[in-house]
Amino acid sequence: MTVRVRFAPSPTGMFHVGGARSALQNWIYAKQQGGVFVLRIEDTDAARNKPEWTEGILSALDWIGIERGGYEGPYFQSQNAGEHRAAAQRLHDAGRAYFCDCTREDVQARTGSQYTGYDGFCRDRGLEAGEGRALRFRTPDEGVTVVVDLVRGEPTFENKLIEDFVIARGDGSPVFLLANVVDDMTMGITHVIRAEEHLPNTPKQQLLWDALGVKPPIWAHVPVVVNEKRQKLSKRRDKVALEAYKDEGYLAGAMRNYLMLLGWAPSGDREIVPWSVIEDEFRLDEVNPSPAFFDEKKLRAFNGEYIRALGVDEFVAACQPWLTGTDTIAPPPWQPEEFDAEAFAAVAPLAQTRIAVLSEIVPNVDFLFLAAPLIDEAAWAKAMKEGAADLLAAAVAAFEALATWDAESLKSTLEAVGAERGLKLGKAQAPVRVAVTGRTVGLPLFESLEVLGRERTLSRLRAARVRLP
Ligand code: GLU
Repeated sequence: MTVRVRFAPSPTGMFHVGGARSALQNWIYAKQQGGVFVLRIEDTDAARNKPEWTEGILSALDWIGIERGGYEGPYFQSQNAGEHRAAAQRLHDAGRAYFCDCTREDVQARTGSQYTGYDGFCRDRGLEAGEGRALRFRTPDEGVTVVVDLVRGEPTFENKLIEDFVIARGDGSPVFLLANVVDDMTMGITHVIRAEEHLPNTPKQQLLWDALGVKPPIWAHVPVVVNEKRQKLSKRRDKVALEAYKDEGYLAGAMRNYLMLLGWAPSGDREIVPWSVIEDEFRLDEVNPSPAFFDEKKLRAFNGEYIRALGVDEFVAACQPWLTGTDTIAPPPWQPEEFDAEAFAAVAPLAQTRIAVLSEIVPNVDFLFLAAPLIDEAAWAKAMKEGAADLLAAAVAAFEALATWDAESLKSTLEAVGAERGLKLGKAQAPVRVAVTGRTVGLPLFESLEVLGRERTLSRLRAARVRLP
């Protein structure tokens, strides 16, 4: 039997990191089993779907390593509507489903104030199909439904607690629960690996598989992804869009490594490992079923490690989108003609060891390309205390006299200027840094001054001196 798994997102919003995690798990499982990964876009909720979300899913998958052409599909659920209706009809014809014209209020009036599920009123009324009549599945009164789940063992559900659920609406359109099963059936899916949120649907879906006479798949419900307050990640509250992380400058490699650690870890106390190790070692039955904490701080730290592991040329290339701007990344504060690739290449290795996400490259290097630095006023106030004017004037005089303009000489010169005033190098650096870069933190100062050059450094120091009383 060839293993066939599927990833079945609904294109109703930005692509969620939890979805990316499930997609990767499916992808690896298929690869390990010599199986097939199917992509199915569940687009039957016409009111909430947008084609651009579908495109977003495809490109996000591509980014994370699930490349177009490497899987079967994408299929679109809406194209299978005929099959969904036919299955509903078959269930009705076999006596496994019946029409029902009860409203929620009707049921509530019969069962008391709380709606606790459908009461089976129409089960034996023999209603024909008709406008406004929903089709309900006749769940067995007895017995249990045992779900074989690679992550959760064998969750067992009592059939008598499962209401006669709706499988097609009053207008005849099949609901998600049925469409999803029929698609899995027609696509020959053998393993359904999906998020825990769907577990409550599973006994109902398994009953549908049984009623339609096909052996149900093996399930694997992977843990819900939560924030630091143990709340399920939500797009209203948390940063969940894979694209947002991409645009902030997370590397795909770091992201997918981190996503695979949600509920699982490779052997030997390691977390940052080559993708091939994850592909080898990942086991669905080792996934911890408890909620998985999406720790953004940890992801940042991961990303910093991945950035540092790049070759300098790769790092320079990876920074390009932030140095120019793209459709989704804001342009930098300098004009394209102000950018100097050579100066950038000179400071790139210094930046590479310091930034955790690639977008941070911009505030670290903007002083090199702008005619005047962007002065952060809070930084200015902090650095330009008493004595700053005198120090800047002395630094200008000493730097002007330098025979060679290099980091070493600049450093020893400023050290001497500071010492004459009883200042340690750190203190002496602060006004110089703010005058030249506009900020209190950034790349190593003297290397920065070397790359910026004599003229521009001196003119910025003089301009700052003039601004001070
Ligand atoms: N379309 C469903 C979702 O995006 C997935 C259902 C499934 O994986 O079975 O939540």
